[in-house]
Amino acid sequence: MIRGAGEEIALGGGLLATGALAGAVAGTASVGACVGLVAYLAWHVRNVLRLRASLQVDAETPESIGLWGELFDRLYRTRREAAAMRRRLGLIVQRFEESSAALPDAAVLLAEDGRIDWCNEAAQRLLGLRTPRDLGQRITNVVRHPAFGAYFSGVGDPAEGVEFPSPSGDEVVLQAQVVSFGQGRRLLVVRDITKVRLLEQVRRDFVANASHELRTPLTVIFGFLEALTVEPDNVPQRWHRPLELMTQQTVRMQRIIDDMLMLARLEGDTSRASSGDVNVPNMLQLIRSEAQALSGARAHRLELDVDDGLWLRGSELELRSAFSNLVSNAVQHTPDGSLIRLRWRATPDGGARFEVQDNGEGIAAEHLPRLSERFYRVDASRSRARGGTGLGLAIVKHALARHGAELTIHSAPGEGSRFGCVFTADLVCRHGGAQRSAG
Ligand code: ADP
Repeated sequence: MIRGAGEEIALGGGLLATGALAGAVAGTASVGACVGLVAYLAWHVRNVLRLRASLQVDAETPESIGLWGELFDRLYRTRREAAAMRRRLGLIVQRFEESSAALPDAAVLLAEDGRIDWCNEAAQRLLGLRTPRDLGQRITNVVRHPAFGAYFSGVGDPAEGVEFPSPSGDEVVLQAQVVSFGQGRRLLVVRDITKVRLLEQVRRDFVANASHELRTPLTVIFGFLEALTVEPDNVPQRWHRPLELMTQQTVRMQRIIDDMLMLARLEGDTSRASSGDVNVPNMLQLIRSEAQALSGARAHRLELDVDDGLWLRGSELELRSAFSNLVSNAVQHTPDGSLIRLRWRATPDGGARFEVQDNGEGIAAEHLPRLSERFYRVDASRSRARGGTGLGLAIVKHALARHGAELTIHSAPGEGSRFGCVFTADLVCRHGGAQRSAG
């Protein structure tokens, strides 16, 4: 039997028996038993009152015997364990606060409705948050940059994050990312990327300056080479082949330099492209003729299917560069006589799509995500031999990004490739005319 229950029976029984014995001596055993019972009840009532008093914060846990003694013992143990747990949790919270204070990145815990629950010291420095003043405020009321507001309301890819200048100073560039956790809760992480952006700018400037500096000497070399090759009779026969190769390589270098300058220009300007009304159907006619000339004896068949009234608002130079890169790629990277279809159509949502489809060899899936990286080629030596610079798709991607447009690539070995440029409705404008096809 349990210790407390045994004691309890002994105590209750003892009081009853003592009362009955004392009553018997006095002549009324039943009255004595009743007195014993009342004393037993009074003892219980006293312990109930002690229990109630001990439940106050910081009160001592009383001691007793019987079931009450056991109850008080358990209460004492539970309280001791709870106090130890509180101490442990306190230490964890303290360590968390110390480590989050040491974090260089801002961290802000947000409730379901976007209100600030907690933030670390870096959040106060980078985002200008003040505690406790801003706790409970919506984050979009405190960080008011439009780009951040749009990102927070769900515009764009959450994993990509968003860049915006720090509220504490325009020269500090921040990158914010929201991570969901728990039930509807969010953690906002903000990094200071000023140095990264500065280094990128230095790199871009270096590439642009170096390309620019190389342009003049190359032009001079090319000029002399041209002068020598137009009058071959003045040049010994054994120099004809070396001169031809030197001219080819100089042209290649010029193309690389032009592409690097174009890329540096596109990368350097993060604003939206300048916007005039661009006659895309006309531009595609020209691009088609140039591509046919580029193909020459390789005799590619170029089909054009355009919506004649479909124009775009944007930069003519950049759109032309993007479209002609895709078309010349189709010529360069497909076998002689391949069929290349150029399509310029409105999309059901009011936007527009330019598509270049070929029936060439296609590209294996593992290369597709990397195709628009600078100098990434599936077959580098073949690309070089065909006059490729390895920068074409990088230019296409940047030129499209500056128009808020997207590059899509569908390709599979043996099935040809389909490169698409998808424009949103806000860039599309109509200038009369109808759909036209040319073979
Ligand atoms: P390049 O100057 O080599 O054409 P790009 O950046 O334009 O450089 O293209 C990168 C690579 O993508 C090319 O080297 C080629 O391997 C592949 N590629 C591009 N367009 C096509 C296409 N239409 N068909 C097959 N491969 C292509």
